[in-house]
Amino acid sequence: MNGSKVLLVTGGSRGIGAAVVRLAAERGWRVALSYVSNRSAAETVVREAERAGSEALAVQADVGSEADIMRLFETVDRRFGRLDGLVNNAGIVAAKARVDEMGVERLERMMRVNVIGSILCAREAIRRMSTVHGGRGGVIVNLSSRAAVLGGPGEYADYAASKGAIDTFTIGLAREVGGEGIRVNAVRPGLIDTEIHASSGQTDRLERLRGSVPMQRAGEADEVATAVLWLLSDEASYTTGALLDVGGGR
Ligand code: NAP
Repeated sequence: MNGSKVLLVTGGSRGIGAAVVRLAAERGWRVALSYVSNRSAAETVVREAERAGSEALAVQADVGSEADIMRLFETVDRRFGRLDGLVNNAGIVAAKARVDEMGVERLERMMRVNVIGSILCAREAIRRMSTVHGGRGGVIVNLSSRAAVLGGPGEYADYAASKGAIDTFTIGLAREVGGEGIRVNAVRPGLIDTEIHASSGQTDRLERLRGSVPMQRAGEADEVATAVLWLLSDEASYTTGALLDVGGGR
């Protein structure tokens, strides 16, 4: 295991992030994962990664805080001494609302976690991976959403806008560091069966929207994780700046 590549997955304790950690561990990555509050879920994922024969580390760090992000990367440096990949997965939604009901506090938190958090994590990864900084190259995968295209009307246009920003950032960063050994791509999941929907107060969301998906079902976190792992792998060696839809046609 010593010497094998190291992947950092933000928000790796539950949902899509946890599925990415498990699959990455099975495929030989050593994995660091961050979480914000659910320590026991994070520890369970660490144990699962270890059972797959990998080395894993969970770090509590809010990606809405630059100080937490700095501590997260320094902890990964100390434990593994290298970084080869980043999955910017941590993300939030807020309660279902129209734009004329949204307050500034909600909007600032949404952008701080989903957009600024992802950009700051990318910055720290580039400082470690770019050949310009003496690194050996690496890969970044950002979790966007089909909401970036659909707009989230009547529900969460702010969240959709944050993911639109992730799409544009993915393209810009891919072009910026393309000559520095770093590929940058995004995955845009559609309706995926995780706890994020309940966190927006919509426990019936999957059931309600299932019929609007051309494939007539919600996706599984594992079905997003396989796309992320492909983008992380050498099989995607000439793919950068891509926005890969994993939405069952939605
Ligand atoms: P989830 O089930 O709600 O899990 C969220 C994960 O992110 C948890 O591990 C959580 O940690 C962590 N997290 C939340 N806020 C954080 C913060 N401020 N700092 C650090 N970690 C934080 O979410 P998910 O459905 O897997 O979504 C993962 C990503 O995919 C998000 O970016 C989301 O926008 C995107 N996405 C999801 C869907 C979908 O339908 N599920 C569709 C499109 C895009 P704790 O366990 O400690 O709370």
